[in-house]
Amino acid sequence: MTKQIDLKTVKNSIRNIPDFPKPGIHFKDVTTAYQDGAIFSFIGSEIYEHYKNTGITKVIGIESRGFILGSVLANKFSAGFIPIRKPGKLPAEIYSQSYELEYGFDTLEIHTDALNPDDIVLIHDDLLATGGTIGAAINLVRKFGISKIYVNFFVELDFLKGIDKIDPTVSTWSMIHF
Ligand code: AMP
Repeated sequence: MTKQIDLKTVKNSIRNIPDFPKPGIHFKDVTTAYQDGAIFSFIGSEIYEHYKNTGITKVIGIESRGFILGSVLANKFSAGFIPIRKPGKLPAEIYSQSYELEYGFDTLEIHTDALNPDDIVLIHDDLLATGGTIGAAINLVRKFGISKIYVNFFVELDFLKGIDKIDPTVSTWSMIHF
């Protein structure tokens, strides 16, 4: 018999790890959702359904967990896949964007020839927490003069209000909320 999957099944499949990587953080471990074939397939299909009429030409995945569903989605849209990576990983000419963390700064990079101004872009990451990472990713995409940007998360931590930091002109949708 085929397993019936719904949003509740998906939510319950995400493992919570208290105090990881440091005390006070409740880490949402998506590997337990992705390791189940039926659930992984359902997640990719649901996100695809949400965006299927938008004409997406490029899907951007943010290193590293954003690469997993990002490449699944790119394939479903027959779109190109573009990695946004941590510093020093991309071999050719890059744009670079720093952003503030709880303590200190971090940087994200993209190849300067990855996108064109007329691309319709979906930026995907596994999880929205405080919004710093996605803010930097949107700034990188803006460097290409692109106006049609969609943002998707598999999981959003509502209580951290990261959504309030995202440019309101960018359409954002998360599949699962905690
Ligand atoms: P932020 O920039 O605060 O929105 O953090 C988002 C990034 O950090 C994502 O790429 C997540 O993979 C990771 N992250 C932050 N907080 C958590 C958490 N509680 N559980 C799992 N991943 C997290």
